Amino acid sequence: MSELKLFNSLTRQLEPFVPVHSGEARVYTCGPTVYNYPHIGNMRAYVFADTLGRVLSYKGYKLTHVINITDVGHLTDDADAGEDKMEKMAAEKAQSIWDIAKHYTEAYWADIKALNIRQPAHWSIATKYVPAMIDFAKSIADAHCYELESGLYFDTSTVANYGALARAKTEDGANAQGGRIEEVEGKRHAADFAIWRKTPAGEKRQMEWDSPWGKGAPGWHLECSVMSEALLGLPFDIHTGGIDHREIHHPNEIAQNQARCGGDHSGANIWMHNNFLIERSGKMSKSSGEFLRVQLLFDNGFHPLAYRLMCLQAHYRSELEFSWEGLQAAFVRLKRMVMAVEKLPERNSNEVPEEVLMWIDQAILQDLNTPPLLASFELAIQTKHAPSEEKWAVLDRVDPILGLNLLRLTRTDLRIRPKAAIITEAEIETALAARKEARAAKDFAKSDTIRDDLIAKGVEVMDGDPLGWDWRLDI
Ligand code: AMP
Ligand code: ZN
Repeated sequence: MSELKLFNSLTRQLEPFVPVHSGEARVYTCGPTVYNYPHIGNMRAYVFADTLGRVLSYKGYKLTHVINITDVGHLTDDADAGEDKMEKMAAEKAQSIWDIAKHYTEAYWADIKALNIRQPAHWSIATKYVPAMIDFAKSIADAHCYELESGLYFDTSTVANYGALARAKTEDGANAQGGRIEEVEGKRHAADFAIWRKTPAGEKRQMEWDSPWGKGAPGWHLECSVMSEALLGLPFDIHTGGIDHREIHHPNEIAQNQARCGGDHSGANIWMHNNFLIERSGKMSKSSGEFLRVQLLFDNGFHPLAYRLMCLQAHYRSELEFSWEGLQAAFVRLKRMVMAVEKLPERNSNEVPEEVLMWIDQAILQDLNTPPLLASFELAIQTKHAPSEEKWAVLDRVDPILGLNLLRLTRTDLRIRPKAAIITEAEIETALAARKEARAAKDFAKSDTIRDDLIAKGVEVMDGDPLGWDWRLDI
């Protein structure tokens, strides 16, 4: 087996994947804070983690993947400032936090499904691990924490190389973005962070638990250390998240893991971060009203797997700029792939030519290089005269890595009715039947009128194509 190399953010280098437990791969992915719908940028983080998982499975490792659901503790600022995102949304909507969490967790799971992201072995829900968080905090409190009026704080000077992952240090050794010292009265270093936030005297939070440090709630960073340890054991193989987590959240997790394990180990052998999806008009901001989320793709007539393909077209460590034109191009590309698969004759062999396995490996073993994998894949399945056995073999191997569901997806599935459409599918079929009759009667003027009317209503008529018609996605 050739070696899988992954880029480790800790060392900023490609490193061979050497599992902690032979034959296994244990992966932890920082999940969403369920105070709102995820935007499609958030979903890029899970498409990336899913691709990693699929590659590990392809290479034969027994995968245990954990994604957490943060339903408590994440403040509006990643350091210790601001309000709890969940409490804030619950107050805005006049609903209980539990209802908010349930609604947005379900919405997130629907997006996971729409993007054909595989179910992890565990969805760990933060509020279910609070007793374990208290135990973890107790075990490190004496040597690494100090108590203030507002809670229990981690003293970042008690661990070696705090902030090494972020590579941005201030004079006192703190992570440059690790919060401002004046934000919390009594903090010893700017980067110190709360692992337990006490409910202020006289207040009552919707979510609070008793602890040795008073009633309160766990800090966000503590959650991930505790859940990864509980479900994967420390150390485990790979920890993933978006690149913003390289600056505060993951350095803080690492500090806690070092404290917990009593050594320098960061808790995971490899830390991997996807770069951001960016969108210049600000439509990805959750405060922008109608922001870019998977539902909006559907509403505009795009199949969400076109977005998955768009993600795969870029290397996960590159920034990816979102545009509707870019999504349109990915959608056309996806349709071409589906058409190539629909044209295949019955499968007649399962042999995989050696060279196919080689080009698959060449791409994915180099830090999940999906763009060349896609290019070789298309060439293999779309070349007219290539033997169909080979096409099947390629499809069987590569589609499970890409997760585009090409073995099942049909072009009819890809025909998503835009929300703004002013004509129904039944009306389109009736118009097309009338057009067929007009053509049979050689009444071409009538046939053209029907066609023009359909075009004006956003429908493309495709003569000679078994699909017959499709929505025109004018964007
Ligand atoms: P959150 O729910 O804010 O904790 O974010 C969920 C995941 O999305 C985290 O891994 C973030 O790092 C990641 N993320 C946030 N914004 C983007 C973006 N624009 N592009 C890619 N990943 C993002
Ligand atoms: Zn996390």
